[in-house]
Amino acid sequence: MKILSTLASLRGRLTFILIMLVLSACALVAGIALSVVEQEGRASIGAQQFSLLSAAAEHLAADIDNKQILLGMLAESMAGADKPDGARMQGMLERHGALRTEFDSIIVLDRAGRLAAGVLREGRPVFGDQRFDDRHYFKATLAQRKSIVSEPVISKVSGKPLILITAPVLGAGGEVLYVLGGSIRLDHSSFFAKIRNLNPGDSGYLFALTADGMILHHPNTTRLLRNVRSEAGAPVPSTLKALGGWEGWTLGSSKNGTRAVLTYKRMRGTGWILGSVYPSAEAFRGIHIARETAWVDAAVVALLVGLAGWYLLRLVLNPLHLLRQAVEEVELGQRDIDAFDLKRSDEIGALSRAFHSLSLKRRAAEAQLARMALTDALTGLRNRRSLDEALRAAYERVKRTRGTLSVAFLDIDHFKRINDTWGHEAGDMVLQEFARRLLKSVRATDAVFRLAGDEFVIIFEFADPAHGLDVAAAKVVQAMQAPFEIGGRSLSATTSMGVAAAHWSEADPKRIMLAADEALYAAKRAGRNRYHLASPDVLVPEPAARR
Ligand code: GH3
Ligand code: MG
Repeated sequence: MKILSTLASLRGRLTFILIMLVLSACALVAGIALSVVEQEGRASIGAQQFSLLSAAAEHLAADIDNKQILLGMLAESMAGADKPDGARMQGMLERHGALRTEFDSIIVLDRAGRLAAGVLREGRPVFGDQRFDDRHYFKATLAQRKSIVSEPVISKVSGKPLILITAPVLGAGGEVLYVLGGSIRLDHSSFFAKIRNLNPGDSGYLFALTADGMILHHPNTTRLLRNVRSEAGAPVPSTLKALGGWEGWTLGSSKNGTRAVLTYKRMRGTGWILGSVYPSAEAFRGIHIARETAWVDAAVVALLVGLAGWYLLRLVLNPLHLLRQAVEEVELGQRDIDAFDLKRSDEIGALSRAFHSLSLKRRAAEAQLARMALTDALTGLRNRRSLDEALRAAYERVKRTRGTLSVAFLDIDHFKRINDTWGHEAGDMVLQEFARRLLKSVRATDAVFRLAGDEFVIIFEFADPAHGLDVAAAKVVQAMQAPFEIGGRSLSATTSMGVAAAHWSEADPKRIMLAADEALYAAKRAGRNRYHLASPDVLVPEPAARR
């Protein structure tokens, strides 16, 4: 409810609009800035992943080069040996501790693909009568007479997944005498262990595929030696793209559905594909935190600006508030309309001056209405309503001055006839002329009223009515005796008049009026066109017993 009533005020609404504007502006700016930062952030993380992966690929390629060179050197030393046979070569292998650390095992195959010698990493010999002449790497080395890196195979000796790096032992005529093979196990490989610390984030990982899509390295070792194309479910699209020759980074889902930055790099030499999966939740954690912080910051800024705006609006709108207060107080009559006459030069000043001017007009209109309410519209004399007030005031005056209250009641003689003979309009004009003559024939200090129809009242202001009341009454009667010139006709409109006067100690406005009225009828009865002075008896208050 409080919020509703706050919103109902101009200040409340302006503050609300201000807060909303600031909030939207902050949200817009924050949104745009964040999306730019996020894009930049993603791009830089992707680029960083790619360069890391490139370094790792180069490291592995160099490692393979190195292994090939070492194996080549061993092959040369075997070729140079006098009558290289199995026992001699076994001895050479067992002595060559440094070379063994590079491979999980080293085997020597004769031209028929039989095991001529072999040694494991820890120095134990490899025995067996298996034939290796069906192996692709054996046939290829024999044919090409150079070192090759094999496809992943299951070892005939250990049953483990591995790859082999070969080197031919060449005879004097360039013929292949033996094929040397150094194996690298794929299940717990010391080879890929070298790049283990490049695993991105906490749960990100690296993997390696052959150019055909066979899995060489993966944290899930059950997937080793499988081809990504023949696994259940469709291969990850970016992996397919990488098998087609593309390298780079992209946002996508890994095989298990995790959103991640997926990066691919093709290795020099072998053409293997080294890949990395960096889950988005970890890769973009910093960006997410920045985004949340930015939203909180934007909300705080909007709130602070809103508070400042509310305070400033309060200051700016305070004159409006004061104006409203002034309006209320003027309405209640607690302040004069001068409270509006502000000198401010702004809209509020203009508004308050407009209020002031409207109030002045209203005041004038009210005064005019009040005047009209107390004035007779036809003659311009004061009317019956103002008579009561004037009588009371006159009574107060005579009490103060210990004077006499004198009143005359007048009525036009045979006025009906004028109306009937010459029409109502002529009657009105007679009434107007009558009023004019009446005003002229009394003093400015005397008050003249039209009660109704052809009835008029005069309140005389006499210091002593004993001297002058007769004269004044006679003057009035006489003033009406001259014919009335109305519409080119000469009409007669005499008046009958009842006059009553009472000393302040006996004066009672009601009783005096009654006495004057009775005196008027006495004048009528006496033949009209005259005045009659009420007898002082009728003015004396009645004894209590007669009431
Ligand atoms: P009397 O001598 O006894 O006074 O006779 P009268 O004809 O004047 O009779 P009375 O005073 O009772 O009549 C007043 C008439 O004044 C009655 C009415 O038709 C007329 N009258 C009242 N108000 C107006 C008015 O505003 N204009 C005009 N033209 N006539 C009015
Ligand atoms: Mg009359």
